[in-house]
Amino acid sequence: MPSRERSAKAGAKAPAASATSKKSSGAKRPKAKSKEKGSRPGQRNRPAATSGVVPSPPTPDGAVKVTFLGGLNEIGRNCACVEVDGKILLIDCGLMFPDMDMLGIDLVLPDFEYLRQNADNIVGCICTHGHEDHTGALSFLLRELSFPIFGSALTLGLARNRIEEAGLSSRTEFNVVKDGERRQIGPFDCEFIPVTHSVPHGFATAIRTPQGVIMHSGDWKLDLTPVDGRLTDLTRMGSIADQEGVRLLLADSTNACEKGHSRSESTVGKVLYDLFHEFEGQRIITTCFASHVHRVQQIADAAIAFDRTIATMGLSMKKNVKLARELGLLDIPESRLRDIAEVKDVDPAKLLVISTGSQGEPMSALSLMAANENKFLTLTEGDVVIMSSHPIPGNEANVTKVIDGLTRIGVEVIHSGIEDVHATGHAKKEECKTLLSITEPEWFVPVHGEYHHMAAHARLGRQMGVPEDQVLVCEDGDQLIIDDDGITRYPKAVPAGYLYVDGIVGDVSDGVLRDRRVLAEEGVVVVIVGVDVTSGAIITGPEIITRGWVYAPEAEDLLDQCAEEVRGSIKEAFQNDATDIETLQRHVRRAAGRFVAANTKRRPMIVPVIMEA
Ligand SMILES: [Zn+2]
Ligand SMILES: [Zn+2]
Repeated sequence: MPSRERSAKAGAKAPAASATSKKSSGAKRPKAKSKEKGSRPGQRNRPAATSGVVPSPPTPDGAVKVTFLGGLNEIGRNCACVEVDGKILLIDCGLMFPDMDMLGIDLVLPDFEYLRQNADNIVGCICTHGHEDHTGALSFLLRELSFPIFGSALTLGLARNRIEEAGLSSRTEFNVVKDGERRQIGPFDCEFIPVTHSVPHGFATAIRTPQGVIMHSGDWKLDLTPVDGRLTDLTRMGSIADQEGVRLLLADSTNACEKGHSRSESTVGKVLYDLFHEFEGQRIITTCFASHVHRVQQIADAAIAFDRTIATMGLSMKKNVKLARELGLLDIPESRLRDIAEVKDVDPAKLLVISTGSQGEPMSALSLMAANENKFLTLTEGDVVIMSSHPIPGNEANVTKVIDGLTRIGVEVIHSGIEDVHATGHAKKEECKTLLSITEPEWFVPVHGEYHHMAAHARLGRQMGVPEDQVLVCEDGDQLIIDDDGITRYPKAVPAGYLYVDGIVGDVSDGVLRDRRVLAEEGVVVVIVGVDVTSGAIITGPEIITRGWVYAPEAEDLLDQCAEEVRGSIKEAFQNDATDIETLQRHVRRAAGRFVAANTKRRPMIVPVIMEA
């Protein structure tokens, strides 16, 4: 096997492989769906729901399938399956935070249909690291299915919080794996390789299959001076590439459009130290992601250097600090910590608060502080807030609102636009190229990114010598079949639509969201009319009720005219011998819609209610 892989890499491809690869790269991707009515520019193309799915053909013995259920064409809900002999190994099971246009939606999950269909064949889930876009959907999937999970102690500790909250701990088994450990999970021989990222103890994974090694980068960057000294183990990746060959590389594309090299996390510590020096004598509040243990460490180090007492604010910060200290990943002496409820007697000049809310989440501790509604802390002029983070796309407006609120109080706000108080956790171009050069993959599929991130990453792959037709840009729902001849891509082979969480999961469809958008943007017009279909007469109404179209008390004339228009159309329908409710509804909807559009240039939702006498 290795010899064939290496020869293919060297460009001396077997004819069969090139035929297959042609088929795969030449396979026409179904066109992006036409814009839904009510959709807006900039809205993502929704991945395939159950309709439009074309399953891949049965696979020959010894073939390996890779299926993408989420994370390709979006940042979030990362979830992939590797399949051998019908046994499935999951790589991550994450959630996504909703776009602004997903009104009322709390979370978005991967489509679990394919996993449901193969419920008895899931041998486990590898959690590459502890971020919610990689582990957050487990607490939903485990309601229906049961399988063991594998990851570092911190990763599983972070995942456990959510799974326990959902009361599902008994549905899984938490298997802690160590750096460099090799584990047999079902038919898969998996090796866990350390990588640096914005949460400690993340892994890349080498999965040995009958079709060679599948290498998954996890979320990673090449931090040569990480806070904990735990380096991305490029040496091990190189040695696997050298000895066994990497048949397929799946790698993080988040920053593949960004030139250069990411900054080391440890450079942030120096900036924080300087700021703590500058603001000596003032109360300091910092925010960062609650799982960013190394950032918390560097904030705490700066605080301790300037003799401050440390308090955490926000439940997830409190929980994660506790977990990381228990695991020995966070070094803050007990004597330095104080509960936020007991900081009133601490001299503000000697206090540091580490808070949640770095993304401007409306109900977070920081947002409440900005609105002066935080029960533990009232900010005043002279306080300093350091936002040690960068807004995730989509959160900019909320973050700006929080910065404004704080500024209005007289607080000095330091954010990543002012000082280098943040470093990304994802590999930029030069690091992506380093990984490609070290792993020398035979085939390359960019993962974890919006479409343009993956396309940029694909270009880097080709630039680094992966043959043009062996770089595949895939999307959610796509399935790869790896056999002796190469890799064939089957677009939209499994359902991969969005599963929306709004209260109870599963009852919000795209149709519901479309309605919500129309209601939010244009309002609703309800036309109520009572008719006698046998005599063809209007008994009551039409009565027009509206919310969000015009303000009814000030628009009586308009409503009367609309009612008149509808009355005319019903009469016309009766003259044309309409006797069924559907026809009358159609007439009413059309007449009211036309009137509304002509007189106000708006398109509210029209709801005809026809009552039969
Ligand atoms: Zn991550
Ligand atoms: Zn991620």
